[in-house]
Amino acid sequence: SIYTHKEIFLRELFANASDAIDKLYYKSLAEGATGLNRDDFQIFLAADKDSRTLRIRDNGIGMTQEELDQNLGVIAKSGSLKFKSENEKNEDIDIIGQFGVGFYSAFMVAKNVVVTSRAWGSDEAWSWDSDGIEGYTIKQAEKDSHGTTITLTLKDNTDDEDYDLFLNEHELKALIKRYSNYVRYPIVMECEVTRALPKPEDAGDDYQTEYETVSEI
Ligand code: ADP
Repeated sequence: SIYTHKEIFLRELFANASDAIDKLYYKSLAEGATGLNRDDFQIFLAADKDSRTLRIRDNGIGMTQEELDQNLGVIAKSGSLKFKSENEKNEDIDIIGQFGVGFYSAFMVAKNVVVTSRAWGSDEAWSWDSDGIEGYTIKQAEKDSHGTTITLTLKDNTDDEDYDLFLNEHELKALIKRYSNYVRYPIVMECEVTRALPKPEDAGDDYQTEYETVSEI
């Protein structure tokens, strides 16, 4: 839609991640929890071009199975669904894009969203999986530590929209910069870097430098 700025989904997800870390941080202060250090809190972003996925991970308070259901369950909660059905005939209105409904703005760019979360203090993790407002499933999952990982599988590109933009490191860095004032913790991005391999000792005069591409934080 011409009205929307789809990239704001990233701002919404960063803001949620930052809030989730705040909640854990203040809880730890209030309860005197040990083993948590403010400097360890961070938000992690990684793009994978092969699977066309974008991953946003925080080590905040996380969500229980029940919280995943309650917090992410119903778009209707925000009133957007009601609004949408009342205005269904007006196709120019992109509800999510215009009003920004937090987490659900992820569906502006993603055809599937998986939220894997482990609540602080719990040893279970749960995974919320949805292709949009049609519905969702929640299943038990594996996660080593508390917090939330959101995996977006980007929509297919169209003539008008290039969703691959959100896999582009330069683009993501620019967006991180733009939205960093919504976030009170460092955002760390995994980047692909190309570096020269060391020259083998038995390399001859005609040795051509070889390169490898690796992920680096
Ligand atoms: P809002 O942030 O305005 O409340 P959202 O739709 O963005 O609305 O999120 C709904 C709720 O889901 C949040 O209030 C929060 O409780 C929960 N939530 C979303 N993202 C996270 C996250 N990364 N970690 C923990 N809880 C989250």
